[in-house]
Amino acid sequence: MKNYPLLKSPEGSIKLLHHSHSDCPSCSECEGKMTHILSIDGSLSSLAKTEGRNLEIYQCCNNPGMCDDWDPASGANACLLSSETSLNSKTEDYITCDNTKLIESFEDFCETMESNDSCVGVTGDEPIWMQDDETPNCSCNKKMTFVGQIEEAASDDFNFGGDGCAYIFDCVSCKKAKFLWQC
Ligand SMILES: [Zn+2]
Ligand SMILES: [Zn+2]
Repeated sequence: MKNYPLLKSPEGSIKLLHHSHSDCPSCSECEGKMTHILSIDGSLSSLAKTEGRNLEIYQCCNNPGMCDDWDPASGANACLLSSETSLNSKTEDYITCDNTKLIESFEDFCETMESNDSCVGVTGDEPIWMQDDETPNCSCNKKMTFVGQIEEAASDDFNFGGDGCAYIFDCVSCKKAKFLWQC
């Protein structure tokens, strides 16, 4: 397993909360608009990289605790390719990856997050699960590929159940990505 910490960009935020795109998808459960909580730099995802885009993550924040926004299949969250080619223009707003430190265990993960405020999660070969392995299957029935995981503590605006982690996966052949969280 090779995992590396994800770092906040020095210039600013890893999140673009409440950027009120009128095209935010709707939650399948409450039917309200979801909130854009985070963008993942396209260089971290094979899918986003081949498309020259970023991954945009949306979560239902309308009635916290009511919609199943932790579940990759609920329709109460979404992980979509950005609508325009934006890798270069917005890079400073996105999470970047530091390849200098390898994270090898959950213990190592916790220690790294605690000791460095700019670390927000990991990217690499495999997720570091807080609960059981919940790697989602794609609609093509293959296991999806791990893109990264983000700590809830990375932002006061994140809600992943209380001290949880969000996990992002993609499938290059189907051009799909999924989001889930555990706590
Ligand atoms: Zn909802
Ligand atoms: Zn697929």
